[in-house]
Amino acid sequence: MKAEDFIKREHKYGAHNYHPLPVVLDRGEGPFVWDVEGKRYFDFLSAYSAVNQGHCHPKIINALVDQAKKLTLTSRAFYNSVLGEYEEYITKYFGYDKVLPMNSGAEAGETALKLCRKWAYKVKGIKDGNAKIICCDGNFHGRTITIISMSTDPDAKNDYGPFTPGFVVIPYNNIDALANALKDPDVAGFMVEPIQGEAGVYVPDEGYLKKAKELCEKNNVLFIADEVQTGIARTGKLLACDHEEVRPDILILGKALSGGAMPISAVLADDGIMLTIKPGEHGSTFGGNPLAGKVAMAALEVVREEKLAENASRLGEIFRKELKSIKSEMIEVVRGKGLLNAVVIKPKNGKYAWDVCLAMKENGLIAKPTHDHIIRFAPPLVITEAQLMEAIGIIRKTLKEF
Ligand code: PLP
Repeated sequence: MKAEDFIKREHKYGAHNYHPLPVVLDRGEGPFVWDVEGKRYFDFLSAYSAVNQGHCHPKIINALVDQAKKLTLTSRAFYNSVLGEYEEYITKYFGYDKVLPMNSGAEAGETALKLCRKWAYKVKGIKDGNAKIICCDGNFHGRTITIISMSTDPDAKNDYGPFTPGFVVIPYNNIDALANALKDPDVAGFMVEPIQGEAGVYVPDEGYLKKAKELCEKNNVLFIADEVQTGIARTGKLLACDHEEVRPDILILGKALSGGAMPISAVLADDGIMLTIKPGEHGSTFGGNPLAGKVAMAALEVVREEKLAENASRLGEIFRKELKSIKSEMIEVVRGKGLLNAVVIKPKNGKYAWDVCLAMKENGLIAKPTHDHIIRFAPPLVITEAQLMEAIGIIRKTLKEF
């Protein structure tokens, strides 16, 4: 079968809820993927930062296969021999009392919102049904109804109402707006991405997160960090909040928690928050399964053993410096942190970010536009400096072609 046959088949039998680049991938290893015709590409999306450890990392795949042969799922109706080990491992790794394991990023976000509301009523003492959670313009926390109720993106929201009430939207990276919104005594939480990924890699001003956390503390409001995309070494620290030494009250993780091997997400918090949820009040059939536990421990070990945060930090500096040196009218802005970067593309002769991505694909590098005019560049963090320079050569050559 040729690439176009694979594409036609997906189009015929699958829902049209995505608009993929026309490349059909068949195999991956480290920072590379190969299409069905055997052509190799640098993967500069890393499955939206889920594959920070590189494709098919042997340590993660071995953990997956070994556990898959033994026990995959018990549900939480019973104990299993891996979950406690994983819970101890991940809570010590990130420094929290407790973890609540889920599967997708959106589910972990929903879990954080439920935890925050429960805490609002049981601990903060907000009148039942009145709790509000502040979120930011341009946010992306997933696709469920409650989460899109927080969204300001018409594509995410249009025709999906009615929406969940209880959210207050403020501008991102605006401390005065936050201070103002926090005056409402019914506010229970502030949910924020330390860098807005899907919106186009918006890095807030230095000090924003620190000040936001201080304001939340002063007003007895939970600081909830959605680090599904920014976490686990992507931005050059274990967590993006670490750049400002901010410890979120509720931490949401997903994506790279499995290195791309399976959907694994987690919510971390201390006892005062986590223990407000009682048995039977929240859960998931697959959340906390032993297969996920072993995979997540292996994925987190790889991050530490291979010093992926350090690699992301060092190579990120090189990447932005090199991209800024490219002389092209189409490059409007280069921004990012660690290996989460974006280029704002100025259209030229009717050619847009999508056309640049198509041309890069021809030259052996795949990336995806976000919002028509922005290309995100987020390679697996195992990429070497030599490989990065080769990839930059492809980006440079492609932009010169326009
Ligand atoms: N939160 C953030 C910051 C994300 O970037 C994403 C996905 O891109 C999500 C949540 C949703 O994760 P999932 O697609 O696993 O539900």
